Amino acid sequence: MKPEMLDKIKRAINNAVKGNFYKNRFKDIDINSINSKEDFEKLPFTDKNDLREAYPLGLQAVPDEQIVRIHSSSGTTGTPVIIPYTKKDVEDWAIMFKRCYETAEITNLDRIHITPGYGLWTAGIGFQAGAELLGAMSIPMGPGNTEKQIKMMIDMKSTVLCATSSYALLLAEEIAKRGCNDGIHLKKGVIGSERWGEKMRNRIANELGVQLYDIYGLTEVYGPGIGMSCKYECGMHMWTDYLYFEIIDPKTGELVPEGEIGELVITTLCKEGAPLIRYRTHDLTRLMPGKCQCGLEYPRIDTILGRSDDMVKVKGTIIYPSNVDKLLSGIDGVSSEYQIMIDHLYGKDILTLFFETPLEIGESSEKLERIVVQEFKNKIGITPIAKAVRMFELPRSEKKSTRVFDNRY
Ligand code: ZN
Repeated sequence: MKPEMLDKIKRAINNAVKGNFYKNRFKDIDINSINSKEDFEKLPFTDKNDLREAYPLGLQAVPDEQIVRIHSSSGTTGTPVIIPYTKKDVEDWAIMFKRCYETAEITNLDRIHITPGYGLWTAGIGFQAGAELLGAMSIPMGPGNTEKQIKMMIDMKSTVLCATSSYALLLAEEIAKRGCNDGIHLKKGVIGSERWGEKMRNRIANELGVQLYDIYGLTEVYGPGIGMSCKYECGMHMWTDYLYFEIIDPKTGELVPEGEIGELVITTLCKEGAPLIRYRTHDLTRLMPGKCQCGLEYPRIDTILGRSDDMVKVKGTIIYPSNVDKLLSGIDGVSSEYQIMIDHLYGKDILTLFFETPLEIGESSEKLERIVVQEFKNKIGITPIAKAVRMFELPRSEKKSTRVFDNRY
C-alpha cells in the first residue's frame, strides 16, 4: 500500500467515526494507532445486516443540513438499507459515472437509452446523472413496456443501451421477433454487473449488433458506476481514487493471494453521507494481473463470477453458477438460459438442470440431455438430471435473473 493510500484511508476512518454508526463499531479500537496496511486489515468488516440494523438513518455521518438525497437498496428480504448522500457524494458519483462512459468511448453525441429503474433504487438516476455530466442525451425510460422501449429506441435513434443483462436479452429477442433490427441504431450496451455467461453475452452482442461493456456498482457504495470495462473486455477498471478494494476468502476473511477468486470488499475514501469501512459486497471476483492495453492506470477486477452466497454445495462439491455458464456455452444446441433446482429427496441431494434449446423436444433433445449430463459430471464432478425445454420457456426478468433455486432447507 502506497503512503498516499494509507493517508486517504486514515482520513476516511476519521471521517467515518464522526457518525454514530462507526463511532459505536470502533469504540474499542484506537484508530490513531492505524499506521500500516496490516493495522487496517485488522479492522472488522461491515456487512449488509449491520447496515439494516441502522435503519432508517443510522448510517448518516454528517449533520442533517448536508444531506440532499437518500437511496435504498432493494429489500427483497427484511428491512431495507437507507443510504444518505451529501451534495458532494452525488457529484462524485456523477464524475465516476461520466468516467465509465468515457472508458467505453461514449461521447456527448451519443443518445443513452436508460432502462434500469428510477426512484429509491440507485440505478436509473446514476446512469442519467453521468450522461448529463458527459453532455450526452439521456432517454430516461426506466424498466418495462417493451413495446414503447423499442419504439423510442427506433424513433430517438438511441446509440447506447443501458440495461441488466437479462433485460438486454429480452429486448434483443423482442427486436429479432419483430424483425425491426434495421431501425435500431445501437452501437454500445452498458450492462449492469450481474453475472452473465459468454453465451448470453454473445447473443446480446450479435442480435443487437453492439459492443458490450460491464459496469459495476452497488447502492451501498454510491450505486452503479464505480467500475467499468473498456473495449478490450478484460475485466472492469475500478476507480481507486474514490474507493479502496480488497479481495478476501469469504469463509476465513483473510486476503487471498493476488489473482485468486474471492469476495470483493470496499472502503469508501471520499464518501461523506454514509462512509463505509471494509464493506463486504458478497460479489465474487479476482484482481486481474498486469496492465490493460487501453492504457488506463486504474486496476481491474474480473467480471463478477457470482455471489458468495450463491455458491451451493451439493454432495460435497461447491458449484459456482459461473462454471455452469461456462460449461453450457461449450455445448452446441444449448442456449444461454438455464435454471438449477436442488432438492433433497429420499435422503439425498438431487440437482436438476433445465436448459433451453432451439432443437425439437424429443429424440434430438434427449441426446443433448445425455451430453449435458456427461459434461456436467466431467467438469463439475456430480451427476445432474438434465431437462431440455423449448426456447423462451424459462422466465426472463427485468432485474437480476435467479439461476439457482435451493429447495433443500
Ligand atoms: Zn482497459
